[in-house]
Amino acid sequence: MLRTLPWLPLALLIAASMASTLHAQAAPQEQPTLHALATAPSQTELRATITALVGFGTRHTLSDTTSNKRGIGAARRWVQSRFATIAHDCGGCLEVVTPAQTFTGKRAPQSVEVMDVVAIKRGKRDPQRVIVMTGHLDSRVTDVMDRTSDAPGANDDASGVAALIEAARVLSTQDNDATLVFAALSGEEQGLYGGKVLADYAVAQGWQVEAEFNNDIVGNSRGQNGVIDNTTVRVFSEGTKSNETLKQADYRRYHGGEVDSPSRNLARYLDRLANDYLPDFKVHMIYRTDRFGRGGDQVPFLQAGFPAVRVTEAHEDYTRQHQDLRTEQGIRYGDTIDGIDFRYLARVTALNAITMAALSRAPAPPNGVTIEGALATDTTVHWNRVPGAAGYRVHWRDTTAAQWQHARAVGDVDHTVLKNVVIDDWFFGVSAVSADGYESPVVFPGFAGSFERSPAPATAAAD
Ligand SMILES: [Zn+2]
Repeated sequence: MLRTLPWLPLALLIAASMASTLHAQAAPQEQPTLHALATAPSQTELRATITALVGFGTRHTLSDTTSNKRGIGAARRWVQSRFATIAHDCGGCLEVVTPAQTFTGKRAPQSVEVMDVVAIKRGKRDPQRVIVMTGHLDSRVTDVMDRTSDAPGANDDASGVAALIEAARVLSTQDNDATLVFAALSGEEQGLYGGKVLADYAVAQGWQVEAEFNNDIVGNSRGQNGVIDNTTVRVFSEGTKSNETLKQADYRRYHGGEVDSPSRNLARYLDRLANDYLPDFKVHMIYRTDRFGRGGDQVPFLQAGFPAVRVTEAHEDYTRQHQDLRTEQGIRYGDTIDGIDFRYLARVTALNAITMAALSRAPAPPNGVTIEGALATDTTVHWNRVPGAAGYRVHWRDTTAAQWQHARAVGDVDHTVLKNVVIDDWFFGVSAVSADGYESPVVFPGFAGSFERSPAPATAAAD
């Protein structure tokens, strides 16, 4: 006892100082709220939405807009009424807007008004920071100009619309610091028009869009070749920004950043959240903007300078996409509701809801991130502090690794020195952490990784 007594106050002192250090460093915490969201999406709700949308016969962008039973107009009004019901149930937490533009193009020669149905849940602390989830309401058959034939579009993309309405429902009862936007787009099949309508709307509103999750074809777990995988979802992300200038591309080519656009780091964020909160479900990150030679509504967002990814099922069945309803040589063609795996769709919905909740509660991703350390054995990382952050984490990974491997909590500061971490050998990034342990995505240094909106493509091309 005599020997140990003098040690006791010292041990307490050490423990106390460790505790205060840990507190100051604001480590990410496991969040019961996010665990609850993992099982919140209802298969019944998802099925009801897809059933209703398929029931409108066709939702072709050029189809009837006046009937209440058939066509894109009826489908739009139905989505609006669903949002209104959710808004009513949460005491008016959602605003519904319907931005529209008229387009003429190869697939819309007579000009068409393309209207999006958008529910907005304003953020409590930081309403200009915006997290977006989209899917497209319009559908098609074999001939993209066929505006009258039945085009159920159960998977492409009533599944995405069902997911975003259900995400809006499960998130409607929760607080969010940043604004959440749930948008059923139109005009996708005629030329990604609805994505442009919403991206333009976001710019006009001065939204700082931190993330756009485009859910297109998310309800089928059986591939055309018979492979069944109900535990994986693909997330496509561009490697370098759509609108970097030649000068920025030169810098990035030499210093790195070709696999660290903000969209790519959003994909990593989804991947990590799936690991942490969705047992038996994982993200397959694909280092591409979209599937080979194909596109989606995330593209107009990327062109507008916003981070965006495409979320899509792991294995597609092409006999169900863009097909006239028919049977040929024993094969049934067409995008009907019997192709939907509702349990799978609920998991994809949960991944979106968890990610939106996490982003909206975390501080903004830090900006002004820079690194230095050439000809030195240490690396110095700088960033600008962001509102709502209680601390920051510096991350690094092997230059060939897909996911961030090492992280250090560094407290509420605007720079740190990583001792004996040589700048040449790693990629670096910084995240912000709130007092209650929500972490932002990791931001790679410089223009290549910044989440801030980059200039419009026209400006980019001029440089
Ligand atoms: Zn689609």
